[in-house]
Amino acid sequence: MAMGEVQERAARPRVLLVCSPCMGHLIPLVELSRRLVSDHGLAATLLFAAATSPPSSEYLSLVASIGAGGIDLVTLPAPPPDSLPSSASVIVRAAHAVASSVPRVRELARPLAAAAAPGRLAALVVDVVGVAAARGVAAELGVPCYVFFTSPWMTLSLFLRLPELDTARSGGEHRDATEPICLPGYAPIHAHELPRSMLADRSSDSYAAFLSMAKGLRGVDGILVNTFRELEPAVGDHGVEGLEVPVHPIGPLVLTRPVGLDRDHECLRWLDRQPRRSVVYVSFGSGGTLTWQQTAELALGLELSRQRFVWVVKRPHQDTASGSFFGTARGEETSMDFLPEGFIERTTGIGLGIQAWVPQSAILAHTSVGCFVTHCGWNSTLESIMNAVPMVAWPLYAEQHMNASMLEVQVGVATRIKVGPDRFISKEEVASAINRVMEGEGERMVKRASELQDKSVRALSKVGCSTQALDHITGTWKYLA
Ligand code: UDP
Ligand code: UDP
Repeated sequence: MAMGEVQERAARPRVLLVCSPCMGHLIPLVELSRRLVSDHGLAATLLFAAATSPPSSEYLSLVASIGAGGIDLVTLPAPPPDSLPSSASVIVRAAHAVASSVPRVRELARPLAAAAAPGRLAALVVDVVGVAAARGVAAELGVPCYVFFTSPWMTLSLFLRLPELDTARSGGEHRDATEPICLPGYAPIHAHELPRSMLADRSSDSYAAFLSMAKGLRGVDGILVNTFRELEPAVGDHGVEGLEVPVHPIGPLVLTRPVGLDRDHECLRWLDRQPRRSVVYVSFGSGGTLTWQQTAELALGLELSRQRFVWVVKRPHQDTASGSFFGTARGEETSMDFLPEGFIERTTGIGLGIQAWVPQSAILAHTSVGCFVTHCGWNSTLESIMNAVPMVAWPLYAEQHMNASMLEVQVGVATRIKVGPDRFISKEEVASAINRVMEGEGERMVKRASELQDKSVRALSKVGCSTQALDHITGTWKYLA
């Protein structure tokens, strides 16, 4: 960047964005920061509250790839390794990482808030996981506090309702509810579809962290949601009685710059040699892993489907399907000894298994990809829709079961995989779900996804509703700064 440009950016009102240590939250926050700088005349400092020291290898690849984006990225020190019991859940660890970094956030924010314009602090934007901890900093400094919500409006409306649902459930647990939860504009949500932390005992630390996030939302100046109206027509229309937090759909924000050295990536070169819409892409996000038995069955199901595939293979989790902790550590085991005997040999030329971070947004944009077997993480979902790729929904954790239901029932761009006894998914069902998309209902889903793709492009155009919403908010921030 030229010297003049550096000085010009330093003089702009600055937004501090605080991100919890979840890759799925960091990616859209990077994109939001980039837009604040490139389209809305602000400067942006993105503070990443690391959970581990050193941070995960995915994080380091991402950092390496955004150097030129005009964002100042600061990695906050991780909490001491023994500051939580080893049994602490992902949500507890993530909230703890942000809470531990609050003194450092305050230290960085205070001089900016006190400075005379130019370069003054205009707003604090906090990842929803950190809202309870970081909200106070904005209040102390007298700047607006906005939450960035990385899941759909459906999840946010559940969150906004949680304090009342909690009171109403006084004697029991949400998982035992026999009546579904009805959110206006959505199909009823059954107990087994609720986020994992909501299903935990109400006396557990995970549930407490979840409830504290939900309560924290009530005191902010606004909520930015990574969605758009055409995808979720109910967005923002049905607030919660007595609660007046403005909600702004500003999505879909996905990574527009590739992570790492995309162009030469082996899977893109391999995709170049395959026919149009002939490949099934399989990935369970930054953290999702399956059991040993389920991983082997998925392999056999891919084989049985007789379709071409690119599979981001994760080393299986010993017990149940779950998420590993905030990505992989450097030097993690990379052998594929857990795959069925002969699988690699039998599928050579038809399929590609990769045990590393891949450029997912570039893969989904490739014309050879015809179906995405996904855990329905919200970023993956948005990336699939923005590339008109229909999905096999295989939800694992967080709000993914709710997303899967919405994508199949309301949006019409996915088929949900059918889970058998003991929550096991057979190879026959893997093959059948893939072929429902590749051969059966696929055409209808592609058509629907293509319509949404067009609408997402429009929402993000200069005059689109998401850009306009962000323009309006940033206008207020600049005025107040
Ligand atoms: N991702 C990627 N390469 C990988 C795995 C994941 O680029 O090998 C990106 C993916 O494109 C998405 C994000 O990581 O943007 C995962 O977010 P999502 O919300 O789908 O799931 P989470 O990881 O939070 O469960
Ligand atoms: N998460 C993650 N990687 C994982 C598991 C979870 O990044 O392996 C993120 C996920 O995006 C979610 C948060 O951590 O927003 C909490 O997830 P968890 O499943 O613990 O709680 P839930 O959202 O189901 O209550």
